[in-house]
Amino acid sequence: MKLVYTQENRFDVSAMRTYLESHGVPSFLKNEFSSSIMGEVPFFSVWPEIWVADELFEQAKRLVEEAQSDESTASEQDWFCHTCKENNPATFELCWQCATPLK
Ligand SMILES: [Zn+2]
Repeated sequence: MKLVYTQENRFDVSAMRTYLESHGVPSFLKNEFSSSIMGEVPFFSVWPEIWVADELFEQAKRLVEEAQSDESTASEQDWFCHTCKENNPATFELCWQCATPLK
């Protein structure tokens, strides 16, 4: 597992998780309730963290960067199909040639 995103705002973290999952990247949340159980706990105590499997880290990192770049300046990168080696646009979630999922 690797840490891919952490933010003091739980709602931002939650939104990021949803974003990752919508792109086929399952994630694991740590410290989800640490800042909210008592309501009075300082924000900086422990931030919620999004962790992903090692093999999904690069993809997750890219998605996080895309989400943070506010799409206007999104630097979308092409990806290469691991089955047929075809080059695919970043907007494709399946290989256009052989339909292998990006992940
Ligand atoms: Zn392919």
